[in-house]
Amino acid sequence: MTVFNAPSFDDHEQLVFAADRASGLRAIIAVHDTRLGAAVGGCRMYPYASDEEALDDVLRLSRGMTYKSALAGLPLGGGKSVIIGDPGQHKSPALWQAMAEFIESLGGRYVAAEDSGTSVEDLQAMSHYTQYVSGVAETEHGGDPSPSTALGVFVAIRRALRHRLGAEDLQDVHVAIQGLGHVGFALAEMLVAAGAEVLASDINPVNLARAQSELGVTPVSTEDVLELDVDVLAPCALGGALNEESISGLRAGIIAGAANNQLREQADGARLADRGILYCPDFLINAGGIIDVHYQRSGLDRSSLGTHIESIGDRLSEVLKRADCCHRPTGEIAEKLAEELLNECSVTAKQGLRSAA
Ligand code: NAD
Repeated sequence: MTVFNAPSFDDHEQLVFAADRASGLRAIIAVHDTRLGAAVGGCRMYPYASDEEALDDVLRLSRGMTYKSALAGLPLGGGKSVIIGDPGQHKSPALWQAMAEFIESLGGRYVAAEDSGTSVEDLQAMSHYTQYVSGVAETEHGGDPSPSTALGVFVAIRRALRHRLGAEDLQDVHVAIQGLGHVGFALAEMLVAAGAEVLASDINPVNLARAQSELGVTPVSTEDVLELDVDVLAPCALGGALNEESISGLRAGIIAGAANNQLREQADGARLADRGILYCPDFLINAGGIIDVHYQRSGLDRSSLGTHIESIGDRLSEVLKRADCCHRPTGEIAEKLAEELLNECSVTAKQGLRSAA
């Protein structure tokens, strides 16, 4: 297994592996960039088929966090952690203690948040052993940032519609959602309330039945969801949904969803652009959760949270306009903008240090 030469390594500042015999913990923490602040990012638990797969996931996700926080105007760096294991079978108090002690050992360079396979309860279990967890505050949603993530995606869908069709109105707009978990369900709820026709799939029949009975969502199969003739496709399951094979079958005009790393590889951004499909970069539009986590952790006034999340819409419009102007994929433009913001901040910080000296 190569590390420094892995394609996803991309100049990570720090990469730490942990194993704990007693609890069976096997985990990786990746700290990509701390120029803007401590690296904050989810702690994912997943039964990875190999160490390489886990490594690739944590590296790609932590890099995405750097760009996500920069674009969202947050004083946070990018990082992520993964626990190799089945969340349905391998959770235990000893595992959370070992993971918490691992996080604590980095002294605050990495701060964990909820992610796929982990819950607010898991973070609460870790918070007894480390101060470096977030998303456990007593809020309306008990610390779960997913409704805020859904709000950011909802705002982005409206902006993308305005960019494409000149109007944000969702009445009778058809949206397909892949994955009705924490974010997908909340997104479906907002879309239905705004008058959209929502079709959705989930590998978990309980989630699908709930959305059908509570929201009137039309269930579709997991095979069909990516190929529906809809206005918007919202991937809200796991990453990699957009790849060479699936992109050729897409019929949606706009892609805007919460899942991280929706593009399997960079070339998929160009494939979408070549097909005239407007792709809203995942790391830009799913920032509502990290914004919420930052508000919780910093004790900021939550009355301005909604406005901050809605600013995702302005950032997206900027990216879409730039992408149109220079005929480049939207993901590439969003990354470039994030790099510009990171460079500006490090120049300002260096100037501050010089004038203080
Ligand atoms: P979740 O685990 O609650 O929900 C994912 C849902 O997708 C589950 O219901 C699962 O059954 C379903 N699913 C899995 N594979 C599927 C498939 N092939 N087809 C259809 N459904 C499938 O996760 P979540 O918190 O809702 O997050 C969803 C995505 O958004 C993840 O990629 C996550 O990393 C990303 N994300 C979440 C947040 C957040 O605040 N929760 C923030 C940013 C990004």
